Amino acid sequence: MSSDSAVGDALQQLAGAVREMTPLGAKTIPKNPERFNLLARPYRYGQSTCSVCKYPGHQCSSVRNAGKNGPCRNAIMSTVGFWEDVSAHIAALYQSHQRFADAIKKNVATYDMRLDNSAQIGGSIEEVIVNCLTRNYLKFQSHFAGIRPKAAAILDKNDYARYEGVTHRLNEFLLHGSSLSDLFERSIANLQ
Ligand SMILES: [Zn+2]
Repeated sequence: MSSDSAVGDALQQLAGAVREMTPLGAKTIPKNPERFNLLARPYRYGQSTCSVCKYPGHQCSSVRNAGKNGPCRNAIMSTVGFWEDVSAHIAALYQSHQRFADAIKKNVATYDMRLDNSAQIGGSIEEVIVNCLTRNYLKFQSHFAGIRPKAAAILDKNDYARYEGVTHRLNEFLLHGSSLSDLFERSIANLQ
């Protein structure tokens, strides 16, 4: 990224992703979501989610009829695609925008941040963006951990590699190289 406008554009994209995580900014779930963040909005009690993959927006009754190219796979890969886009913007900003790089370095991820009601921090635009993205990223990781055995049956090898690739990159940027389970273990250790 060489120009200020490229920095501004990447920041805008990330700010847009963060806006969708607020009740007012939430977008309607499209019929065929593509690189769309299905976990952007908070879950509401009683909101219907798929009984197989737990994503909102569709219903499948069993892994068997979820199928390799069915709505469950689309939902999971839509979210993976969303995080791939976010990770590209983060990588670009980290290289060329000092305030963003500082916000990444200052960012502290905790296990509780995966919850919708976790506290949002104040600070610079960059700090708020990094904090909101981290919380929603942990929600995504926690969601995936909950459906992992089913995901293994639904996703093909290439899909799974994309999930692992984006997880590796974002664990580096947003969790300083930790994983969700590392954060879990740390939270248990802190309670003792
Ligand atoms: Zn599903």
